[in-house]
Amino acid sequence: MELKFWTTNLILAHRWTIARGSADQQEVVFIELKQDGLTGIGEASPSDRYQEEISTIEAFLKQVDSSRLSFTDIQGSMEYLEQVAPGNSAAKGALNIALLDGAAKRAGKAVYDLLGLGFREGKHVTSFSIGIDSPEIIRKKAIEAKDYSVLKLKVGMPGEKENLAALREVAPTVPARVDANEGWKTKEEALQKLEWLAADRHIEFCEQPMPASTPAVDLAWLKKRSPLPLMADEACISVKDIPHCAEFYHAVNVKLVKTGGISGGFETLSAARKAGLKTMLGCMIESSVLISAAAQLSELTDYLDLDGNLLISNDPYFGPTAEQGVISFANAPEKFGLRVVPRK
Ligand SMILES: [Mg+2]
Repeated sequence: MELKFWTTNLILAHRWTIARGSADQQEVVFIELKQDGLTGIGEASPSDRYQEEISTIEAFLKQVDSSRLSFTDIQGSMEYLEQVAPGNSAAKGALNIALLDGAAKRAGKAVYDLLGLGFREGKHVTSFSIGIDSPEIIRKKAIEAKDYSVLKLKVGMPGEKENLAALREVAPTVPARVDANEGWKTKEEALQKLEWLAADRHIEFCEQPMPASTPAVDLAWLKKRSPLPLMADEACISVKDIPHCAEFYHAVNVKLVKTGGISGGFETLSAARKAGLKTMLGCMIESSVLISAAAQLSELTDYLDLDGNLLISNDPYFGPTAEQGVISFANAPEKFGLRVVPRK
């Protein structure tokens, strides 16, 4: 097995601000695994919230002995990667995605069929995210997003009320999700904000109102009183967190950069459903490689938030489309694996 990797700067169409910070670009690492004339593609989009950056991903990949990886033994390959170093979920995820891309191409199947899930066309709709901005820009972004049937608004910062009002001027009743990214610091503040959001009557749920590290007693207090379903994101890293999330939240946002790829995502979504949680697949700012990898697991979800590739202007890959938010592989240029190819 041959392993190649390189870094690419993804350029955001609009400056992207959430409660944690701002960015105009996102550096990601792409990888290729080659074995028996087949190429598997993977991607890592690191977040310092989860202790990863480009340098840690490169350092991890340099430690990997690619002769220990195989398209014919995903589980054995992942067990080897666990021995290389703990953590590094985005880096391991890139390798897991490339391994499954190769394994499915070898089997002459799409990854979703290799996993036994299938993919129903027309059933899977992603929200389109609007980051924190001035009300004037929010209005402009909401007009640009008029084709999407579900929006997601970032809150958790001063100006959030003006921003929701600006969104509602343009899209008064479109279903919306909100994400506070741990921005509300006390249970009282969080409850007050959730009551304000519930009064909108078209908000589906709120992601991560308080910090993931909030004491159990405060999380229980908020869950008992919240007028909106609460979704764990920063509090749901991997399958190990599902018992905690089932106790203190109603839903989870699963991302492949947190779970260590498609295999970990499959496991986390399955465990969440078994525990009675609603499930969503989310993303970082990322290309069509990671988006397509997540979309393979759509059948295990209630909601999708797979728009990271729609927010950038230089996606190096082409995979599923998202016309009006409907994720579709109908025109994907590749039939097998992730169903992604480099853009010419
Ligand atoms: Mg979130």
